[in-house]
Amino acid sequence: MTVRVGVAVLGSTGSIGASTLDVLARHSDRFRVVALGARDNVQRLQAQCLTCQPDFAVLTEPGAARQLAAGLAAAGCRTRVLAGGAALDEIAAHPDVDYVMAAIVGAAGLASTLSAARHGKRVLLANKEALVMSGPLLMEAVASGGAALIPIDSEHNAIFQCLPPPGAESRRGVRRILLTASGGPFLRSPPADLERATPEAACAHPKWVMGRKISVDSATLMNKGLELIEACLLFGVPPSQVEIVVHPQSIVHSMVEYLDGSVLAQLGNPDMRVPIAHALGWPERLASGVESLDLIKMGRLDFESPDFARFPCLTLARAAAEAGGTAPAVLNAANEVAVSAFLERRLAFTRIPVVIDQVMNAHRHTAVQTLDDVLAADGWARTCAAAVMAPLAGVCA
Ligand code: NDP
Repeated sequence: MTVRVGVAVLGSTGSIGASTLDVLARHSDRFRVVALGARDNVQRLQAQCLTCQPDFAVLTEPGAARQLAAGLAAAGCRTRVLAGGAALDEIAAHPDVDYVMAAIVGAAGLASTLSAARHGKRVLLANKEALVMSGPLLMEAVASGGAALIPIDSEHNAIFQCLPPPGAESRRGVRRILLTASGGPFLRSPPADLERATPEAACAHPKWVMGRKISVDSATLMNKGLELIEACLLFGVPPSQVEIVVHPQSIVHSMVEYLDGSVLAQLGNPDMRVPIAHALGWPERLASGVESLDLIKMGRLDFESPDFARFPCLTLARAAAEAGGTAPAVLNAANEVAVSAFLERRLAFTRIPVVIDQVMNAHRHTAVQTLDDVLAADGWARTCAAAVMAPLAGVCA
């Protein structure tokens, strides 16, 4: 009998988590869901446990974990329920877990992602914020732990597919990385409309169905800024070697240009099950359930420059990528605070980059040597963002 690969899906109740479980269900002969994890969504996690029958389920909110345990016991499900953030780190390190899907949103996913890397797991990295914050620390943990880091972000997964393996002679022939961006829901919106943008409008992405935080990041283009930092760290290139190209159809997921003028691209329908299936199967290919790409029906593919004036987050992120050290962690934390205030209608959409800019200006970045350096910068930036936000709130739509 073939031994099945044990998978932990952290952030299972979210959009990436659901797509991951969909792909895993198509290959139950190959993969076994060992653990699921989330924050407090009892109802969805209970339904997932009843379907997948994992050994462990984690909810970081203790009250929610107690509720889940009672619900599962009543349904006769033998899944063991654990509570608290540290339980996620334990699950990520568990000997029965071979692959960890890191799909918790934001800084909350950092510790479990690091734990998976240190314990030599295959880390399927959706949680870009963890990499942006901790930068070289996570890459070192991957190297020293003997882990494999496979990007789930469709752009980075595309670049991973277009690049030769690390260390290969041909890697030296890379001229630049072309990171594509859909442009988000406000690609053509005039500045006056951006002033009045509501959370509902910002979360209505024209091409991708995603969680609320990343949807707002896509609307401000901070998502592309975080991805620029992510690309530099993952592929060992300076920010100057990464160009952002707006491609509204979201069919070309990114490209790599070589010195001889060749440009390799990865194309596919905009469905996260494609990169998820790639990362689960790599180096093999697995069926993802995604329809074939119909280029004739598509008809045309467009490319244009981003508008840096309407989307200042791109410039802020590039500056953080160039500064390095604690700057990306500060950028990320200020963004998380501002986005969450926007989603709660406490901050106007156009004030998000203003808050981040003020926090970045107040920060004196230093080198990152330990996780404590990262957490200190993150904490400082959150406090600073809350302080600068009060007088800036603006008119919330
Ligand atoms: P969702 O908001 O849909 O899901 C977030 C998940 O994280 C949920 O399972 C949520 O649990 C869990 N979570 C949130 N806060 C905590 C916490 N403090 N402790 C433990 N778990 C927590 O997000 P997405 O699935 O859209 O995104 C997940 C990550 O993947 C993000 O980093 C995003 O940038 C990245 N990504 C997403 C893409 C997409 O298409 N959605 C594309 C590329 C990258 P609960 O439900 O209980 O709150």
